[in-house]
Amino acid sequence: MSIPQNLTILGATGSIGLNTLDVAARHPQRFRVFALSANQRIDELAELCLRHRPRYAVVANAVQAEVLGRRLESGATEILLGQPGLERIAAHAETDCVMAAIVGAAGLVPTLAAARAGKKLLLANKEALVMAGPIFMEAVRTHRATLLPIDSEHNAVFQSLPDSFPGDLGGHGIRRILLTASGGPFRETALEHLQNVTPDEACAHPNWAMGRKISVDSATMMNKALEIIEAHWLFGATPEQIEVVIHPQSVVHSMVEYADGSVIAQLGNPDMRTPIAHALAYPDRMEAGVGSLDLARVGRLDFATPDLVRFPALRLGYRALREGGTSPATLNAANEVAVIAFLERRLPFLGITSLIEAVMNELPPSPLASLDDVLRADAAARAHARRWIDAMTVRK
Ligand code: NDP
Ligand code: MG
Repeated sequence: MSIPQNLTILGATGSIGLNTLDVAARHPQRFRVFALSANQRIDELAELCLRHRPRYAVVANAVQAEVLGRRLESGATEILLGQPGLERIAAHAETDCVMAAIVGAAGLVPTLAAARAGKKLLLANKEALVMAGPIFMEAVRTHRATLLPIDSEHNAVFQSLPDSFPGDLGGHGIRRILLTASGGPFRETALEHLQNVTPDEACAHPNWAMGRKISVDSATMMNKALEIIEAHWLFGATPEQIEVVIHPQSVVHSMVEYADGSVIAQLGNPDMRTPIAHALAYPDRMEAGVGSLDLARVGRLDFATPDLVRFPALRLGYRALREGGTSPATLNAANEVAVIAFLERRLPFLGITSLIEAVMNELPPSPLASLDDVLRADAAARAHARRWIDAMTVRK
């Protein structure tokens, strides 16, 4: 019998983190939970540590470490702190596989550390790749990391590509990638009502249960904008080779179109345990706890062209990709600030994309040559976005 792989989960208390633990726990002979991290949900982390007995747990600060330490007592789990702790569990010599499931820019440095340590890297944290695309992909290549997409669309594309796919769409008989999008909770909401929608309404996704940040991103379709950029870096696709199609049932997770007109799709119930299990077991297949797709019950599969007036975020995603350099990092940082402000009811729903566009207009892209360039662009965009929100609040 083979030795279980040591699994590190960055962002274990989140939606993806918990789904990963659910899948891994079905296969104790294949996976051992080696390290877990959390940010604010320390009680939940304590319960996970008691259940899975990881070697390491990472929390944000010393106060949380003390709280967690009291809950764990037995000492089976060593507690580490902050970014250095996250980097350590991501790159640890005994870590075989890293699930990168921290939300937002906070996940960039530890996710990059896993790439630089040549790990099998399961990427849910799309923001890391959006911000630092060229640097991230260079680290994957140089250190021979195995990068597997968890985002359901990119995992579907990965499954629909030929096994021989060399990592670049050009000249391999592939025409384009079709990314599906549910359209979120406001696909049919009257435009005049969008200004007043609440955070709870925005987070009530029709098909997927997810963290609040990505739920808001799905409602604005900024999630799809980030995914366009993600697809560019993962598959070497040009902006012209990436098309978004609205598909409200979320059953076709994405497609690849070939030169001969064939379109290969991956289908399944909308359950993140499928892409997680696919990546964990890759290149094998294993049980994920997901039921069979009942197509007769689904009944019909609808497709439509996205409405760019309703969803200006898509236009901004293509713009950031075409501009290149620091532009995607600016887009991502402005979005993170805007989403927090919306969730705190300091910014109306439609203000999210207006804010991002204003910040992109104010901060023209510059070249991206190092991680420092990424972090500088991220900080500048956050500062501009916060000033913009403060000015709006004063004007009110
Ligand atoms: P959640 O909000 O549910 O979880 C986020 C995780 O990150 C939690 O463990 C949280 O800790 C941790 N975290 C948050 N902020 C920080 C920080 N500053 N430093 C360290 N850790 C932090 O998010 P999701 O699981 O929904 O999403 C995770 C990532 O996966 C995102 O990038 C998202 O875009 C992507 N993704 C998610 C999908 C989904 O179905 N949920 C689908 C496709 C992609 P704590 O809870 O303890 O505060
Ligand atoms: Mg997705």
